[in-house]
Formats: sequence, structure tokens, C-alpha cells
Amino acid sequence: MKSMTRLFFSLYIRLIITLYAVIILSHIIGTYLIIDIDNVIDASNFSAEITLLEELDSHISKEKRQLLIDMIAERNQMIIQPISKTEIPLHVLQEMEHTNIWFDDDDFNYFKAFDDNRHYRIIENENNELVKIDNQTDNYTIITLIICVALCCLIWFFGLQRKLVLIESTLINISEGNLAARTYTKKSMRLGRLNDCVNTMADKIEQLLGSHKRLTCTIAHELRTPLFRMQMHLELLTLNDTAVNPEHAQGIEDEIYCLEDMVNELLSYAQMERAELTPSLETVAIDELLNKLCGKHASECKADINFTATDHTCYLTVDVSLITRAVANLITNAEKYGKSKIFISLIEQEKQVIINVEDDGQGIIEQQKKNIFEPYYRLEEASNKTGFGLGLSIVKEIALLHQGNIQVLDSEYGGTKFSLILPK
Ligand code: ADP
Repeated sequence: MKSMTRLFFSLYIRLIITLYAVIILSHIIGTYLIIDIDNVIDASNFSAEITLLEELDSHISKEKRQLLIDMIAERNQMIIQPISKTEIPLHVLQEMEHTNIWFDDDDFNYFKAFDDNRHYRIIENENNELVKIDNQTDNYTIITLIICVALCCLIWFFGLQRKLVLIESTLINISEGNLAARTYTKKSMRLGRLNDCVNTMADKIEQLLGSHKRLTCTIAHELRTPLFRMQMHLELLTLNDTAVNPEHAQGIEDEIYCLEDMVNELLSYAQMERAELTPSLETVAIDELLNKLCGKHASECKADINFTATDHTCYLTVDVSLITRAVANLITNAEKYGKSKIFISLIEQEKQVIINVEDDGQGIIEQQKKNIFEPYYRLEEASNKTGFGLGLSIVKEIALLHQGNIQVLDSEYGGTKFSLILPK
């Protein structure tokens, strides 16, 4: 039997046992712990009949008394037997010192009448037609109830099992290496949020493995180039044994810096991705911060930087160094992939602030837009430019750390427009 079917059966059997236990328990509680009002009414009616009989007793013969007792027994679906005091349990006898009648909805009930030493035992008459019908009705009701509940549970469990089997088969597929497997998210197939969680987990695993694969390729490609160049410089240095050639020494130093940049970028992305970073937030005038940043980049950058700020000071609570880094990454990309102009604008809305960085480059085709934020992902067009494919992933992580977002659109200036959206 498959594990899911076994689980289904064991759950089903446990549920039926629980239901049965609940029925027995409710019967016990109804009988012993809660006052049985039907029993109290029966006792009160019976007591009235016996009191009436006692009133009549002085006017009728002993035979007539017995006839009337038999009639009361018959009408109440009982058997009434005279018994001696010794046959009555002690605790009942003690109770009957204060009352004439002892009804306990048990097998035997008792009453005393006519004089203090005349006791009677009451037994339910199982052969009475009405008692038989009553017992049968009780039995049929319980059986029907159990069958109904069992059927409802069977239908419910069957649906549950079907949904679980689908999720199980998706998980088996994923565990066997088919990372593209996803479970159904149709309303009729959903099991709470489980389907979405399984799919999100699969997306995350696929993304992680993809990014690790790209990391391996990036490292292989990006590390090999500066290492190869360093090797060349070293060889040229050793050939030229008369004096240390400053050009080659500088070349080696440049390559070391390049490697250092790459390692730093990798480390800071890894730190952000693992959510090890807690932003140190402070409220700043974001327009002034951007203005300064643009000024700094304008002096180093080949492209023209245009900054359009808000007409008033715009305050925002951010981690200044992280936001500076995110915008700097976007400006560096605009310079790398654009032609000659970079347009930066700040827009303040009711609930958010948007920082747009646009360029006049070739832009990014629609199908690639969703991929560029993945770590180590680079478009083919970027193969002749420096970079490790981490800049935009870092921007995205910074946006998420601020509960914000990053979007990529086509710019009206011909190239790409990145919008860093930060909530107020
Ligand atoms: P990289 O180090 O390669 O620049 P990024 O994560 O910053 O890494 O960018 C990922 C890829 O997105 C780049 O390789 C490039 O192909 C593309 N890209 C990023 N910014 C732009 C832009 N402004 N215009 C066109 N393409 C861009």
C-alpha cells in the first residue's frame, strides 16, 4: 500500500474511533454527570400515580390494589415486583429514608408505598411493544448517524488524499531532480497555502541552483581573465631582468584591485542574500543625498548626468550607505550600457518615493527584463563590459531590505529606466 494511502486509512480509522468514543462519552456524561430531566419527569409522574393509589388504598381491597399496581406498571412499560428490604442496595435504602421513590435511570428503580416496610422494585419491561420500538428507534438513529458521519468523512478524506497525492508526486519529482515540476494551484486542488509554498520552495531551489551554476561560470570566466593577464605581466617582468618595468608592475596591481573588487562584490551580495545585514536607518533629505551623489559621479563619469529633484525637500528614512550603493550601481550601469546621457529623477508620492535612473542606450528586451535581477546573470551584449552580474541583484536586495522594490522599464530617452521604489 502506498504511504499516502496508508496515512489516509490510518487517519480515517482514527477518526471513526474518535467519533465512536465521543458518542459513548456523551452517553456517559448524559447518564451520570448531568441530571436526566426525562428521568425526573418520569419519577414525578410515577410518584403522583402511587400517591393517588395510596389515597385510594383504604377504600379498596388487596386484590384491587394489586390490579391497579399492575395497571400502572403496564401503562408505564414497567414490571413492578414486591421485594424485601434486604434486597435493596444499602445506598438506595439510605436515600429512601427521605423519599418514597428512587429513580436513577439504572436497571432497577425502587419505591415504597402503603406502609414503611412495603418495598417494590421497578424494572423496565423489555417485552413491551412501545419499549421495543423506542429501543429500535434509538439503535437506528445511532447507526444512521455513524453511517452518515463515516460517509461524509470518507468523501472529505478522499478529496484530501487526492490533493496530498498530487503534492507528494510533485515533491518526489523535485527530489528526483526535476526542478521544473510544480504542483496544481487551481482552487479545487489547493490544500491551504501548501501548494503555493511547495511551488515557491521549488522556484527558490531552481533559482539557487541556477545562480550557483552561473556563479561557477562567472568565477571561471572572470577570475581566469585577470589571472591570465597577471601571468603575462609577470612573465614580461622576469624577461626584462635589468630593471623592474613600472608598466607591468602597475598592470599586476590593477589586476589585483580588479580581483579584490570582485571578491568584495561577491561577499556583500552573499551577506545581503543571507539577510545578515540589518539596515541602520536614519531620516535624511533624499534629494540632497542624490544631488551629492550625482555631483560625485559627474566628475568621474564620461556621460552627462541630469538630475531632476522634487521642488521641496523630500525626507525619507533609509540606510544612507545602502541607498547610496544602490543608486551608484544603477548610475554605473547607465554609464556602462548607455551612450552619453544619464537622467536621474526623484518623484515623491503619497506613500512612496521613486528614484528613476534612465539612460539612452540600447535598452533591454522584454523577455530578459525579469532575469537581470538574478545573481550572476549577464546579457550577451554585456560580455565585452566589465562586471560580474551582481550589481542589480544587490540593488534588489537593498530595495527589499527597505521593504521597497526595483522595476525595469523602457526609457523615453531610448534606453533603460530603473525605478527604485522606497516606501515612506
Ligand atoms: P553587471 O555587472 O553585468 O553590470 P548587473 O547585475 O548590474 O551586472 O546587470 C545585469 C545585466 O543587466 C548586465 O549584464 C546587463 O546585460 C544588463 N543591464 C543592467 N543595466 C543595464 C542598462 N542600464 N542598460 C542595458 N542593460 C543593462
